[in-house]
Amino acid sequence: TPPPGPEDSLATPRPVPGACFSRARPAPLRRPRLVALSEPALALLGLEASEEAEVEAEAALFFSGNALLPGTEPAAHCYCGHQFGQFAGQLGDGAAMYLGEVCTAAGERWELQLKGAGPTPFSRQADGRKVLRSSIREFLCSEAMFHLGIPTTRAGACVTSESTVMRDVFYDGNPKYEKCTVVLRIAPTFIRFGSFEIFKPPDEHTGRAGPSVGRDDIRVQLLDYVISSFYPEIQAAHTCDTDNIQRNAAFFREVTQRTARMVAEWQCVGFCHGVLNTDNMSIVGLTIDYGPFGFLDRYDPDHICNASDNAGRYTYSKQPQVCKWNLQKLAEALEPELPLALAEAILKEEFDTEFQRHYLQKMRKKLGLIRVEKEEDGTLVAKLLETMHLTGADFTNTFCVLSSFPADLSDSAEFLSRLTSQCASLEELRLAFRPQMDPRQLSMMLMLAQSNPQLFALIGTQANVTKELERVEHQSRLEQLSPSDLQSKNRDHWEAWLQEYRDRLDKEKEGVGDTAAWQAERVRVMRANNPKYVLRNYIAQKAIEAAENGDFSEVRRVLKLLESPYHSEEEATGPEAVARSTEEQSSYSNRPPLWAAELCVTSS
Ligand code: AMP
Ligand code: MG
Ligand code: MG
Repeated sequence: TPPPGPEDSLATPRPVPGACFSRARPAPLRRPRLVALSEPALALLGLEASEEAEVEAEAALFFSGNALLPGTEPAAHCYCGHQFGQFAGQLGDGAAMYLGEVCTAAGERWELQLKGAGPTPFSRQADGRKVLRSSIREFLCSEAMFHLGIPTTRAGACVTSESTVMRDVFYDGNPKYEKCTVVLRIAPTFIRFGSFEIFKPPDEHTGRAGPSVGRDDIRVQLLDYVISSFYPEIQAAHTCDTDNIQRNAAFFREVTQRTARMVAEWQCVGFCHGVLNTDNMSIVGLTIDYGPFGFLDRYDPDHICNASDNAGRYTYSKQPQVCKWNLQKLAEALEPELPLALAEAILKEEFDTEFQRHYLQKMRKKLGLIRVEKEEDGTLVAKLLETMHLTGADFTNTFCVLSSFPADLSDSAEFLSRLTSQCASLEELRLAFRPQMDPRQLSMMLMLAQSNPQLFALIGTQANVTKELERVEHQSRLEQLSPSDLQSKNRDHWEAWLQEYRDRLDKEKEGVGDTAAWQAERVRVMRANNPKYVLRNYIAQKAIEAAENGDFSEVRRVLKLLESPYHSEEEATGPEAVARSTEEQSSYSNRPPLWAAELCVTSS
C-alpha cells in the first residue's frame, strides 16, 4: 500500500499505476438503519447477531462505514477485467472498500469489505454507492448460495440510509432517487482474475493497457501473496523448487478445477450469474458479485438474466464455456510467471473433465442414482433438461417432485400429474414468448440485414432479431394450441422420459437386498440435493418492495427461509410431516406469478 496522499486523493478518480490497493475512506451516510444481519455470517467473525435495538443501532453505525472498528485500514482494490469479451482497462474497485482482516481464535482469517461505501480512486464517473434493491439482492443471495452448499463470498449485514442517489429516470422524465445502502461482505479474499490483469500490455482490440503494465515485480509479489495465503499446501509443496514455475502451474491447475466445480454447481441449481466478466471471477473459486443474477424458473438454456446482456453472452448454458474463456484470460495475465503454453495445456486437460465429472456426480445425486454409475447417465440428464425445456417446466420444482418418484410405481398417474403441474401454462407461455419488437421495427431490421449486413452485425442486433423471429413463430404455434392439447403434449413428453428413468432405476436396483433401505437412502440423497427454496426473482422483489416502504421483516423472513433450502429431516420422514410445514413457507416454493416474467434486472 502506498503511503497516504493528500486527504482528497482518497476519493479522486484517477488511473493508479503500480498499486494493488489505494487508501480510501467510507463516506458517511445520513441516518443509517439496519435492514438485516446474517447470524451465521457474523458468527465467522466471532460476532453475535441479535434483534435488540442497541445491537442493531451499533451494527448500522459500523457496517455503514459511519464508524470504523479499531484497526480498520480502509482501502480500495485496483483491478482490470475483460467485460463482455473486451479488455476494459482499470475498472474496479470503485464501489467496494476493504476494511481489514479478522483473525479468529480458530485460526481462520476473514477479509471484510463494505460495498457501496462511497467513492474511491477507482470510481470513475460513478458515485461508489449501491441502492437498497441491489444490496438486498446481494445480501440475500450470498447467504442463500452458502446454504445451498455453493462456494461463495458471504454477507454479514445490510444497512440502508436516508442518503440518496439517482439511478433511473421515471417514464415522466423525473429522476428517481433511491436509498444508499451498504453490504458488509466477508470472504477469505476478494482478489479476482482481473486483479492480475492490471499488468496487461496494450490490448490488440481496445488499445487499452493495465495501469501497472511492466511491473513484473508487483505481479510476482501478488502471486506469492495469493499462493502463500490461500493455497498454503501448494506453497509448502514447492518450497525447495529452484524456480516457481511448477508451483504456479499447480496453483493454476487448482484454480481451474475450483472454477469448473463452482460453475457445475451453478448449473445444477439453475443459477445464472449474469455478469461473468474476468473481474467477477474469484481467484479462490468463489461465486462473487451478485448483480443481475437469476435462478431459472421455467427451464430455458438460453435464459438471459442481465437486461444489459443484449447479445446473450452470459446465458445459462454458456456459463461453463465462459468460465473457461475467463481462465484463458487469467492464464494470459500470469505470463511469464507461468508460461502460457503450460497454462493452456492445464486448462485443456482439466476444465472440461472436472466440469463434467462434478456436474454428473451432482446430477446423479439429484436423480437418486446412488449405487452405480452408467455411461448413459449424461444422456439421461440431457434428455431430462430437454423435456423440461419442451414442457416449460420449473427447474427447481421439477427436481423436487422427482425426489418423490415412487419406486414401486403403484401410483404413477398421480405422480405424472404432479410433475406436469410444474409445467408452464398456456397463459404463461404466451406471455413468455410474446414478441417484443414492433412489427415495423422488425421488418426494418430484416431490411437492414439484407441491405447492409456489416452495419447490422456491428450494432449487435443479430441475436435480438433471431430471438424475435423465434418468438413470433412460437407465438403462432401457441395460438393453435388449447390448454388440453398442451396438457396431453406435456404428459407425452414426461411419460417418455420417465420410462427411461424407470429403466435406469431398475439397473440401480439390481442386486439390492433391502429395497426399502435403498429407497429411503435414495430419497434422503435427493432431498439433500434438490432445494425447495432458491432466491427466485419474485421472492427477492417482494422483499425489496416491502423494504422500500420501510418494512424489513420480509427480508429477514426470506433470509431465514434460505438458511434451510433443503427438506428438513422431519419432512423426510413422511407425507404427514410435509403437511405440517406451514402454508406460508410453502408459498415460497410456488412457481412464480405471471408478473414475475416482466422483472428486469441490471447492475445498480
Ligand atoms: P460489475 O459490472 O458490477 O462487476 O462492476 C464493475 C466495476 O464497476 C466495479 O468493480 C466497480 O469498480 C465499478 N462500479 C460499479 N458500480 C459502481 C458505482 N456505483 N460507483 C462506482 N463504481 C462502480
Ligand atoms: Mg464486479
Ligand atoms: Mg457488480
